[in-house]
Amino acid sequence: MGIAENVTIIRDRMAEAALRSGREPKDILLVGASKMNDAAACQEAIAAGVDALGENRVQELLGKLAEHAYDGAPLHFIGHLQRNKVRQVVGRASLIHSAGSLELLAEIDRQAEKAGIRQETLLEVNIGGEESKSGFAPGVLRDAAAQAREFRHIQVLGLMTVPPVEREPHGNLPYFEKVYRLYVDISRDLYDNSFKYLSMGMSDDFEDAIAAGANMVRVGSAIFGRRQYQ
Ligand SMILES: *Cc1c(COP(=O)(O)O)cnc(C)c1O
Repeated sequence: MGIAENVTIIRDRMAEAALRSGREPKDILLVGASKMNDAAACQEAIAAGVDALGENRVQELLGKLAEHAYDGAPLHFIGHLQRNKVRQVVGRASLIHSAGSLELLAEIDRQAEKAGIRQETLLEVNIGGEESKSGFAPGVLRDAAAQAREFRHIQVLGLMTVPPVEREPHGNLPYFEKVYRLYVDISRDLYDNSFKYLSMGMSDDFEDAIAAGANMVRVGSAIFGRRQYQ
């Protein structure tokens, strides 16, 4: 099936999940995770109506930007971000999902100041406490969120998570529910209820993420087909 059909199917499933949890379909945003897909595929996804495209690798993002892959939709950065690459992402990505340390936030702030902008950012939560993953451990997230308020060139708009790989159906639901609690509590206690985005859910689990309260899902293979790793 083509990208346009896939987007229609995903939108329908998102809408059903939204309605089941008493929300409006239009309030849930679809980010196409376009890593390893070329500029033409990105343009197809935008024509099919994804709300944004999300990239993982800075080099790939810059190459595809030069090919106008993202014309017509906002570009997000969703992958692991190295400090020495922040300069190339700030201002190019309208939203950085993956700010997972105070060092990284400090560098985003520094580069945003230089660029004369306020960078919209989400805080990444390592909800499974996995060694291999970046993001704030749940136990330090609240303190980090409080410190993040002090960066004048960053606007924190919410949270993002990538839960552990689960084999059981609905295995990620408890993780999504935990992140939703953190999202609501931190927004209320530290951000005057100003959080806007809870980014969680991918091809295999976006309906569970929406059930738990996500309002932004990042879907790759279910839109673009399986990635060809070489
Ligand atoms: C690749 C990726 C996705 C999408 O994964 P699929 O399983 O292909 O839907 C979502 N979020 C992040 C951070 C990713 O790297």
